[in-house]
Amino acid sequence: MFFYPFYNPIFFTSMLLLIPGVIAAAYAQHKIKSTYGKFAQVQAASGLTGAQASRQLLDQAGLSDVSIEEVAGNLTDNYDPRARVLHLSQGVARGRSLAALGVAAHETGHALQDAGHYLPMRIRSALVPAANFGSSFGWMIFLMGLFISSFRPLMTVGIVVFTAAVIFQIVTLPVELDASSRAMKLLQTNGIVAGAEADGARQVLRAAALTYVAAALMSILMLVRMIVMSRE
Ligand SMILES: [Zn+2]
Repeated sequence: MFFYPFYNPIFFTSMLLLIPGVIAAAYAQHKIKSTYGKFAQVQAASGLTGAQASRQLLDQAGLSDVSIEEVAGNLTDNYDPRARVLHLSQGVARGRSLAALGVAAHETGHALQDAGHYLPMRIRSALVPAANFGSSFGWMIFLMGLFISSFRPLMTVGIVVFTAAVIFQIVTLPVELDASSRAMKLLQTNGIVAGAEADGARQVLRAAALTYVAAALMSILMLVRMIVMSRE
């Protein structure tokens, strides 16, 4: 009746499929930390803080009603579309570096996406409940099907539920890349970063994008692993 993982070698051998995902995630973490650290030391000539830059860019886009609040932590910056609040970490809000300005402009880019009803962002928001459910319960449901022989069809249910989380990670990519490309345009056309400074901000945003690519890759590999196990 029960199949313990011990008797089910594919449970272990299929873990090898996750290795590229683990390596990519570790590399992305290293890359964002080192790149952010490097350009947090480089001050922009404009002298604006991240919060000042975001405020200026929001006002200019007619989004004076979007507020900016400081949040605790490092790289915890985000835009909350429901409350229409830009959350900036203290280092970004008060920093005058290329890294701080890059991140502040990126989050501003999300506010502009929201105001412009940018389609990938709307799809992403609509997927949030299914994605949360899928990432919490997809694997558990799958394991019940894998280890309890009379519950076999649950493997397929688990795979379908988990797929919602994978689609969410994939839809996140165009949203993040678009926010960064908006950020670079805004920073340059407004002279918040000038000339060669743009390259530093761009490197920070590229490194940040890499963490989303790694997360998407990991979720795809987890799904592939589930499919491989279900076919044994
Ligand atoms: Zn973002």
